[in-house]
Amino acid sequence: MLAAGNDPVAVVYDAAFQSWTLRNDIFQAVLRLNPSSGVLQLEELRNLLTNEVWRLPARSGSFPILVELADGRRLSSESRLLVTGQTIGGAERGGKSLCLELSEEDNPLQLTIWFTIYPGQAVLRHQATITNRLGQSVIVKKVNFLAWEFADDRAKYDTFGVHQWVVIPREMNFDPQEQPLVPGDPGITLSTGSGGSYCAWLALRDATGRGLFAGLEFNGRADLSIRQAGDRLTWSAEVQELYHPLRAGATMELPAAMLGLFRGDWDEAGYRTQRYVEAVLAPPIPDNNFPYVAWDSWGYLQEINETVLRENAKIAAGLGMELFIVDLGWATGMGEWRADDHKFPSGLRALSDYVHDLGMKFGLHFAFSEADPQSSVLQLHPNWTSTETYNFHGAVSMCLGHQPARDWIIEQGVNLVRAYRVDWILQDGQTLVKQCSKTTHSHHPDNSNWANSEEGLDVIVSEIRRRTGVVWENCANGGSMMTFKMARNYVTSITNDASGSLGSRQGVYGATFPFPPRFADRYMPDQDLDTYTTRSFMFGGPWIFMNRLPELSPEHLALAAREIAIYKATRASVRDGRVSHLTGRPAPGQVDAIQSYIESRDSALVIVTRESAPSNRYTLRLRNLVATRQYQVRFETATARYVMSGAQLMTLGVEVSLPELRSAEIVYVEPAGK
Ligand SMILES: [Zn+2]
Repeated sequence: MLAAGNDPVAVVYDAAFQSWTLRNDIFQAVLRLNPSSGVLQLEELRNLLTNEVWRLPARSGSFPILVELADGRRLSSESRLLVTGQTIGGAERGGKSLCLELSEEDNPLQLTIWFTIYPGQAVLRHQATITNRLGQSVIVKKVNFLAWEFADDRAKYDTFGVHQWVVIPREMNFDPQEQPLVPGDPGITLSTGSGGSYCAWLALRDATGRGLFAGLEFNGRADLSIRQAGDRLTWSAEVQELYHPLRAGATMELPAAMLGLFRGDWDEAGYRTQRYVEAVLAPPIPDNNFPYVAWDSWGYLQEINETVLRENAKIAAGLGMELFIVDLGWATGMGEWRADDHKFPSGLRALSDYVHDLGMKFGLHFAFSEADPQSSVLQLHPNWTSTETYNFHGAVSMCLGHQPARDWIIEQGVNLVRAYRVDWILQDGQTLVKQCSKTTHSHHPDNSNWANSEEGLDVIVSEIRRRTGVVWENCANGGSMMTFKMARNYVTSITNDASGSLGSRQGVYGATFPFPPRFADRYMPDQDLDTYTTRSFMFGGPWIFMNRLPELSPEHLALAAREIAIYKATRASVRDGRVSHLTGRPAPGQVDAIQSYIESRDSALVIVTRESAPSNRYTLRLRNLVATRQYQVRFETATARYVMSGAQLMTLGVEVSLPELRSAEIVYVEPAGK
């Protein structure tokens, strides 16, 4: 029997059919023990709004976890896993979980898996642990934590993924990649995680718009793939370079993953993902002023001192900025995480107090994975470096997977947050998940990827956050670790690394498919300000000025103050809205437009930008409006006002004037008569 109708989420066991149904009001997943083989498998994922179904393939099971040991023994959809225990219980954020304990005769591994659903989200999250039941160690050599399979229904599919910020071998700035799945081919494989080339997200849909999306909660490198062959769609997420010793009786927690349903275009796939991230994964926003307007000292490179920073802080506060970040150069050296006395004769705490007295939060750059070769930590512990070094501003890299190094970094972080009253950490470094094959470290030399992510970086960030309450921004010379584990530990992420106006819009364009807009922050390096520049940085998460403020002219300061006020008035709409990518990726010679739509107010905001496009007019066609409703259209710069129906705005469109090269307009669409 199914649960009472009013429950937003329910998990129901049917003993007669040996099945479990997880459901909310829009979605259900049915897991069942195969009546002939006794193997646990996913029976179906069903969209309860459209009644579309994804079924398991004929003649085989579908199970999300595949583990292989170094000796070849496996645990997979082919294992005869018996259910030895089941628990149905509440989960964080209003979710409900089914926890199953599974084991197979003669298999050294016992599996415990949690399937969780949440109110209003058409997403099934799963996470598993494996426990070594033998009296001796085993080596976990392979983990695929998204091994779902579905019948392909003989349909043709397109896939959609987004690059993250990559510099080598060539620059990739959140470029979206749409590719068809060719039956029988190897399929699509995305290299994800720290230093990988793609965001840890992949969407797929057939020609009718029936779609699935998947995302990984893993900051190390993993290959996320989809393949169509033998009448089935096969998902996979394989941890790279795994060699994880598991002692007798020990348990290993595998990364979690999501699988979600959508119907529609890639914007819809993104929106469903984003709502899930906000409802389930992401840390709550620090306060209602988030995303903040911030200032960062990198306009001075490392030539900072308390006089310069006080001058900037005073002006920043006057402009309405809310967060003041001291970038690289504040410390005695990398690895020497105390303030440079020559630059801060009154102490960094005095600057922090001054910033707080001005009403701003105090942020500090922390490149904890790097250290100068001359730093006292490396003098004392020369062996704490990773074998691969990443040349971040002349530093050498530390192995975060080596436990003594990791624990030292945690102490450094806790101390600096407390000593300098730090509200915000700007994480930085080069490729946070290092490669290290040292035989003298606490991790196995062939297990660097896992040790440096799951047991290194992730522990450092969550432990310092837990002990101090500081909030954390993801950055490693740009957004090169765009995963859903990142989205659990960080309040925002940099997109590209101060790459100019066009680069800023390109980064936001791609990042706002898989991630909510608040995870796309932008560093504005431009010293000369105009509204084309400011509005190229306005859409998304925190807006971070890098200008040398005392050198700005009174006109530029006045413009900055006006634009900051506009940002503050609109940021909640962008933060909570549904993003529509109205044009292709921003490119030279093209007008680009990005929309945010707030369902609860039936209102839209669009930023339209012309850099070098020849035409001085753009016909803006909005999306998501109610066709029969009348809307008022107004502009931030132009004085025209219109009243038009939703149908008119979505089909004929409204003319936006972009009188000059390098101009930008903000368009507001609200129900008429308000
Ligand atoms: Zn190491």
